[in-house]
Amino acid sequence: MKIHEYQGKEILRQFGVTVPRGIPCNSVDEAVKAAETLGGPVWVVKAQIHAGGRGKGGGVKVAKTLEQVREYASQILGMQLVTHQTGPEGQKVRRLLIEEGADIQKELYVSMVTDRVSQRVVLMASSEGGMDIEEVAASHPELIHQVAIDPSIGLTDAEADDIAAKIGVPAASIADARTQLQGLYKAYWETDSSLAEINPLILTGSGKVIALDAKFNFDDSALFRHPEIVAYRDLDEEDPAEVEASKFDLAYISLDGNIGCLVNGAGLAMATMDTIKLFGGEPANFLDVGGGATAEKVTEAFKLMLRNPGLKAIMVNIFGGIMRCDVIAEGVIAAAKAVSLNVPLVVRMKGTNEDIGKKMLAESGLPILAADTMEDAAKQAVAAANANA
Ligand code: ADP
Ligand code: MG
Repeated sequence: MKIHEYQGKEILRQFGVTVPRGIPCNSVDEAVKAAETLGGPVWVVKAQIHAGGRGKGGGVKVAKTLEQVREYASQILGMQLVTHQTGPEGQKVRRLLIEEGADIQKELYVSMVTDRVSQRVVLMASSEGGMDIEEVAASHPELIHQVAIDPSIGLTDAEADDIAAKIGVPAASIADARTQLQGLYKAYWETDSSLAEINPLILTGSGKVIALDAKFNFDDSALFRHPEIVAYRDLDEEDPAEVEASKFDLAYISLDGNIGCLVNGAGLAMATMDTIKLFGGEPANFLDVGGGATAEKVTEAFKLMLRNPGLKAIMVNIFGGIMRCDVIAEGVIAAAKAVSLNVPLVVRMKGTNEDIGKKMLAESGLPILAADTMEDAAKQAVAAANANA
């Protein structure tokens, strides 16, 4: 799960990280009022969307007068903000953060991630803040410093000070930087984050260390113990099909292709998408209906796929282990009746009650293309999608 910058800053503040004073707003008038409340002389008008790169896309603007705050707020609010993380269609800006302007002397980069190799939380830091860290990693990997943190101790003073010195924090500001880094680690740890990134962390003219941006991702599997994080969820920022899927406990990810995939098991779902691609097709989604799916769940899964206007074919690929093939067949038939199924449907089933399932589908009167192997199913789905395109 992702959150907005202003929410990330609320979390950082709770863990002792210094952030600029700021007020989130939903309208231009609120933005001007927020600037008045904060006081001058410089404000930053910041688009709140679940994507980075807002500055480059025109979603972060420095205002020197209240009139400019009004001007920038009306430009940014409602705009379709395109960044390298939104895709070409961009994301609509529904909310702003009005923040006091900071006196930036140097922009640094710091983040926490869980590193699978060391099986620890790793602090990554660089003197090259403000820009795309992937670019720095590619062109100047020597400028990225890392420390794997011992979970039984946490980020030690010595580790924090060492990293701070390596990214160019002057001696007089090291203690301040240590507070920020240890606060970031605690925030990451206590909230079950999977990413906590401050880009940029700045040094001000007077030597203070401040978090100017905040990006958090949370481990969805741990959200059950963080109602305070769940409360930050903004459904406007999420793919509507994925939101709908989460209501039915379906693992669904929208993709750009035109062949819908309904599969049980994440591994088989991945293999199905690979097979479709191998035969020249493009999957429209990843969808794992899980091991214990009911006919109702399968129906909802069908409805989800059929919401996509670009859908040209559906490939159902089921292994009947825990999930019985007749249950899937029941779901397919119910779904096809509930929604007007207007695209070719290829079904491949293997395993428990395979014969019953196949018989049910054959007798349903639905125009179903039966396939026996994965290869056969993928080829038929690709051919059907191409014929239907
Ligand atoms: P994004 O990473 O999405 O582009 P940031 O919050 O990092 O958004 O803002 C982009 C840039 O705007 C920062 O690198 C910084 O130079 C500037 N900036 C952001 N917030 C402030 C602020 N409060 N005061 C001064 N400059 C800011
Ligand atoms: Mg940033």
